[in-house]
Amino acid sequence: MDILTKKVKGTEDILPSDAYRWQFLEKLMRNEAEKCGFKEIRTPVFEHTVLFNRSVGETTDVVQKEMYTFDTKGGESITLRPEGTAGAARAYLEHAVYNDGLPVKVFYQLTCYRYEKAQAGRQREFHQFGMETYGAADARADAEMIFAASNIFDRLGLSGIRLEINSIGCKTCRRDYTNALKEYFTQHRDQLCDTCLSRLERNPMRILDCKNESCRIIAKDAPVVLDYICGDCSAHFEKVKTFLDAADIEYTVNPTIVRGLDYYTRTVFEFVTDSIGAQGTVCGGGRYDGLIEELGGQPTPALGFAMGIERLMLVMKAEGIELPEPEKCDLYIAALGEEAEKKAFEITLDLRRSSYIAETDIVGRGLRAQMKYANKIGAKYSVVIGDDDLESGCAKVKNMKTGETTELSLDDFGAGFTQLMLQSRRDAVIASLPSEKNSDTRGGE
Ligand code: ATP
Ligand code: MG
Repeated sequence: MDILTKKVKGTEDILPSDAYRWQFLEKLMRNEAEKCGFKEIRTPVFEHTVLFNRSVGETTDVVQKEMYTFDTKGGESITLRPEGTAGAARAYLEHAVYNDGLPVKVFYQLTCYRYEKAQAGRQREFHQFGMETYGAADARADAEMIFAASNIFDRLGLSGIRLEINSIGCKTCRRDYTNALKEYFTQHRDQLCDTCLSRLERNPMRILDCKNESCRIIAKDAPVVLDYICGDCSAHFEKVKTFLDAADIEYTVNPTIVRGLDYYTRTVFEFVTDSIGAQGTVCGGGRYDGLIEELGGQPTPALGFAMGIERLMLVMKAEGIELPEPEKCDLYIAALGEEAEKKAFEITLDLRRSSYIAETDIVGRGLRAQMKYANKIGAKYSVVIGDDDLESGCAKVKNMKTGETTELSLDDFGAGFTQLMLQSRRDAVIASLPSEKNSDTRGGE
């Protein structure tokens, strides 16, 4: 196939026939975030490379293998964002958003870029929805975050996604754990991949997150972080669990979750499913109390999550969740003859002013082809305007489902059509009510 009509590997198009699914999710997520007091933040697609090196972390897969990094003509190194947290934190600091009053709570919906092996649920351009809180150390902030993500899945009717949580402690208590890991993995260094060998010195916790099969096998029996966390971190974790219990959110503690990015501290969590194969993590998040300071700000507790929209779409498909289709055309106005075309065009625009979805021919088709198109787009009503109708001042509007016709005046078409739509809505409501006979029986019981 000609490269001109071939998308780049690892990217996907969202076609007009499918866009409503995305719009539905975006609206639902925005609504969920706004209910919790979060406001949208939009940051650039690319940032200075050092921002990701510093915040995501030099020893992570993302920084080591997956970033789209290039030099600009001016010789600056920039990188397409592989995730949303770094950009949001940078903007928070650059614009002193903390002056708006803490906690600052933001959400984002954006595209991310990672150079990965493209497969189901793993793309090179993909979409994330995420939420971030700055300036809240309390365990309720963790629970609020987890609740929002969980509620999104509930509202979509998904049942096969489970929540796994863990605590990876703070910088201080992690020192002992890091030493224990170093000792353990050194004993098995001949089974580690090259990347993990370099991690062994710099950041052994990253080995636990390696996808390589032999590293995974070794990692299974590695020391567990929960055995090493300090009293404060342990108390925080207990509180998070208490609030999750209070919110009726089910979870399991999975001591092997460490998350792929360097900036995490204390609570980490993942929402996972078995329904979409190997790429089963739909959402990941946690606390990163050191991030803002790492970027040069005041010490500021922070936390967040990011949800992969493509993976969410796959889960919805696997669980058979259908989303409501968009509204179809209310009225298709076919016209025959030059004068009629003008009238049809006027009426179409008039109806649009009144917020109806109205369409008329803009191709120059014959009547049959116009009606075929009206059918194809699923128009609820259609009307044909010809010279005769212009003369009589009336035209017959046809209900495309029932075939029933109603004559409307062309001079006052908008008002007549509104009446017709109201009547059809009333009929639909009446049809959905229990019949009189049924309600009598029930009343007699
Ligand atoms: P994985 O272990 O699957 O590589 P990750 O730890 O790299 O995930 P995060 O950086 O936590 O992922 O990103 C949050 C979410 O974004 C993931 O849980 C997933 O749903 C989604 N995601 C990450 N990478 C991709 C990708 N390449 N394609 C599609 N979705 C992705
Ligand atoms: Mg990854």
